[in-house]
Amino acid sequence: MTTSEQASAPTMITGPASPTPVCWVNGSWTSMSEYGLTVATQGLHYGTGVFEGIRAYWSEQDTCAYIARLPEHVARLLESCRLVRIDLGLTASEIQDVIMELVERNAFSGDLYIRPVAFKSRLGPGTPFGVGLNGVEDLFAVYATPMPRRERLATLRCGVSSWRRTPSDCVPARAKITGSYVNVALAVDEARAAGLDDAILLNTGGTVSEASTTNVFAVSRGVLVTPSLDSDILAGQTRACVLEIAGDLGMTTTERPLTVSELYTADEVFLTGTGHEVVAVGEINGRPIGDGSPGPTTAEIFDTYRSAVLREVAGHHHDWTTKVLLPESPQPSVAPSEGVA
Ligand code: PMP
Repeated sequence: MTTSEQASAPTMITGPASPTPVCWVNGSWTSMSEYGLTVATQGLHYGTGVFEGIRAYWSEQDTCAYIARLPEHVARLLESCRLVRIDLGLTASEIQDVIMELVERNAFSGDLYIRPVAFKSRLGPGTPFGVGLNGVEDLFAVYATPMPRRERLATLRCGVSSWRRTPSDCVPARAKITGSYVNVALAVDEARAAGLDDAILLNTGGTVSEASTTNVFAVSRGVLVTPSLDSDILAGQTRACVLEIAGDLGMTTTERPLTVSELYTADEVFLTGTGHEVVAVGEINGRPIGDGSPGPTTAEIFDTYRSAVLREVAGHHHDWTTKVLLPESPQPSVAPSEGVA
């Protein structure tokens, strides 16, 4: 296989229920293996794009998927778009419909990760070559890939990165801007090179910001602490759920700047994010957190979050998930691609 064949091969989507995975690109359904992009794609050059990461959980009992925090993810996507002047030309509810249809059309019957991505594509007529947001066409695509839930609570080994989180007055941390993930990639690469699972980044003020793609929580003297929104963090959907769960469970929670020494001395540290859900941190920079294994609060939050997104308890946070019904019969064939490449 040549490099270009590898690049266009649908390696990401291999779910058994989806032999010919489809994605949605600027209004058309197209095959994952057929879609191509021009090397002149502006978002590729300058990181001028935005994205979301959304999870759908498959329910054997209801034989359907439930998408977690769908309206909230779409609202964050639209906010990110506004920051980089991307106009999707769709309302929030139309975007939700596209995402639901994507799951339906692919007839996946397992847990999924859904990736909406929007970026600057071609220079518009008369727009000079170079960096810019105006006068550049926007492209919006959505695809999905299987992502089975972990069987049990995982424990990660982390390090505090030498790379600081990009300050929000340089690139807004509240938005999921593709270019800003270079910051994360450098930190993850450093952690992995040191044999660790993940990096915790400090902000330029020297307090804890977040891990590579998760928010950080510490349990200290019976209080659940997480960096406040002014700590250059993404306002995570999972973070919001965990704060609500902790409140339900009668825990005291605080959102405030958090220092590294507080992490080192915490009874428990855990991370939250759509993909990872809730994961324990067993050590940071070689220092064990507690006894190095997941603590009781982390375990309780993990269990409660899981049971909420899986709708295991009648009426418990069912508003966090949106039901997707699979089609009774296969969808009609995929529309030809618009040939944006
Ligand atoms: N921070 C960063 C930088 C992320 O990329 C993510 C993943 N979206 C998170 C935190 C967690 O956010 P969420 O819970 O919404 O997935």
